[in-house]
Amino acid sequence: MAEFEQTKWTLNELLPTHKGEEFERLLADLEQQVSQFESCREKLSPEMTGDEFLDVLKLSGDIYAVLRRLSAYAYLWFSEDTQSQAALSFMGRIDQLSAEIQNRTLFFSLWWKGLDEEAARRLMACSGDYAYYLESLRRFKPYTLSEPEEKVINIKDVNGSNALTNLYETITNRFTFKLEIDGEVKEMTRAELSSYVRNPSADVRAAAYQELYRVYSDQATVLGQIYSHLVRDWAGEQMTLRGFDSPIAVRNLRNDIPDPVAETLLDVCRANMPVFHRYFQFKAQRLGVPQLRRYDVYAPIGAAEKTYLFSEAVDQVLDTLDRFSSELADHARRVLADSHLDSEIRRGKRGGAFCYSVLPGLTPWVLSNYVGKADDVRTLAHELGHAIHALMAADHSIFTFHAALPMAEMASVFSEMLLTDRLLAEENDPVVRRDLLVLTLDDAYATIARQAYFVLFEIDAHRRAVEGATTDELCELYLDNLRNQFGDSLDLSDDFRWEWTAIPHIYEAPFYCYAYSFGQLLVLALYRQYKNEGASFVPRYQKILSYGGSASPAHIIGEAGFDMASPDFWQGGFDVLQGLMDDLEALA
Ligand SMILES: [Zn+2]
Repeated sequence: MAEFEQTKWTLNELLPTHKGEEFERLLADLEQQVSQFESCREKLSPEMTGDEFLDVLKLSGDIYAVLRRLSAYAYLWFSEDTQSQAALSFMGRIDQLSAEIQNRTLFFSLWWKGLDEEAARRLMACSGDYAYYLESLRRFKPYTLSEPEEKVINIKDVNGSNALTNLYETITNRFTFKLEIDGEVKEMTRAELSSYVRNPSADVRAAAYQELYRVYSDQATVLGQIYSHLVRDWAGEQMTLRGFDSPIAVRNLRNDIPDPVAETLLDVCRANMPVFHRYFQFKAQRLGVPQLRRYDVYAPIGAAEKTYLFSEAVDQVLDTLDRFSSELADHARRVLADSHLDSEIRRGKRGGAFCYSVLPGLTPWVLSNYVGKADDVRTLAHELGHAIHALMAADHSIFTFHAALPMAEMASVFSEMLLTDRLLAEENDPVVRRDLLVLTLDDAYATIARQAYFVLFEIDAHRRAVEGATTDELCELYLDNLRNQFGDSLDLSDDFRWEWTAIPHIYEAPFYCYAYSFGQLLVLALYRQYKNEGASFVPRYQKILSYGGSASPAHIIGEAGFDMASPDFWQGGFDVLQGLMDDLEALA
C-alpha cells in the first residue's frame, strides 16, 4: 500500500512559466488567435457550411482553453499563497486580459442567438459535442431584445444593478465583528465569527449570532434599500421588458430546469420539514435542554475527537471508491499521482477546500487544509469526487465537460455518502458513529432545507418589494418564513429577522440557492437506488457522470431512470434522511 504524504501541489502542467520570453510568446499566440477569431465575423451567415461553423467553434474553444489555463494558474498560485504580491498582480493582469478578450469575442454569441430557427437547426446538427452549449445559448432567444436595447441594458447595468451588488459587497465585506472568547474580546471577520456557531458552549453560539445580526441590523436601512432596488430592477428588466412569466423563471431557464420541477422540489422540501424538526428535538435531548434554540442548530453533540492520519485518510477514501468502482478510484488516484493535491497546512494558504477542473482530460487540482478531523476526511472524499466527475467527462468539449450548477455536486456528495457509509459500517465506537451521523444531518439541513426556504422567501419578497414593501415588512415576511420552517421544533428569537440581509446570494444571484437542495437530494435519491440495486447501478452512475455538462439535467437524470418532475423522486432523498435519523435514534 502506498504511503501518502501531505504535500504542496505543482502547477507546471498548467503553465510552464508565468514570465519571461516563453510566457510573452504564449500571450502573442493568444492575441493572434483572437484576431483570427475577429476576422471570422464576416464569415458568419445563415448560409455558412457546417465545416466553416465548426472551425469557428473550435477556434473559440482554443481561445477559451488558453484563458482557462491562465486564470487557473493565477487562481491556484494565489490560493497557495494569498500573501504573494506577485500572484496578486498576475491575477489582476489575467482578469483584465480575460475581460478584454470577452468583449472582443462577444459578437459570436449575439449572432448565434439572433440566427433564424432553420439555419440554427442545420448548424446545430453538424456541431457534435458543442450542441448542448449552442442550445443553451439559444434558450434565451425568446427573451432577447434588439441589439440597441441589449446594449443599453449592458451599459446601464454597470452603474445600475452591478453597482448595487458591488456596493452590497463593499459595505458587508468591511464589517468587523467582536466576540468575547475566554474573557478576551476578539475582533474578527464574518468567516471567523461563523465558526463559533459550532462552538460547544451555548453562550458562545448565541453571542456569535447576536453579534452577526447586531452588525447587519445597524446597516439594515441601506441593505434593505439595495435589496428593494435590485428586486425592482429584476422585475422591470426580466418581466416587463423580456417577458418572463415570473421572477424565478429566469433562474430556472438558466439552470435548464422547467418551472414545475423547481416548484415540485420546493413543495417536497416544505412537506419534509418534520424530519429536521425530529432532528432538532433529538439534539435538544442530547444537549440536555427542553428545547433547542435557533442558535443551537449546528451545536456539536459528540464527545469523540477521533483523528485520522493523512495517509490513512487517503487510503480509506481510495479504498472506498475502489469497492464501488475501480475506474472512479483510478481517477482519484491520478490527482495524487500527478501532484495536483495541496493538502499541507501553510501560513498564507487559502482556507477551506475546492477542486478546480481546468480543461477536459487534464487532471484537476484539489486544495484542502487537512488537520485530521473526520470532517477533513469527508472533505477529501468530496473534492476528489469533483475531480472524478471532471475526468469521467474528459471526452467532451471545453464548453460541455463541466456539469451545470444543479448537477455539479453529484459526484462529490456521492463520494461523501460512500465514505460515511463505510466508516459507519466499520466503526464500533457508538460515539464516533453518532458524530458521523450528526455531521451528515447538520449538512443536510444546511444544504437542503435552509436553502429551499431562502428561495421560498425570495418568491414572496420579489412580489412584495415590487408592491412597495418596506425593510421592516420584509423582515416580518422573513420571520414568517422561519416560523413556517421551524414550527415549534425550536425557539426562534427575533434577531433572525435580519438573516436575509446577510445572505449574498439573495442579492447577487436571485433564486440561486435551490440548486443546492436539488443537488443534495439528487444524490440521496441516487444513493438509495444504489443501496436497493447494488452492482448493476454502477455502470448507470458512471454513464450519468460521463455526460458532464453536455446534456440537460432532465436528460441526464432521465438516463438514470428517474423522473425529476415526479415528487416521488425527491421524496426518495428524504427517505434516506429518515433512515439516518432512525439510525441516530437507535444509537442514543
Ligand atoms: Zn462541492
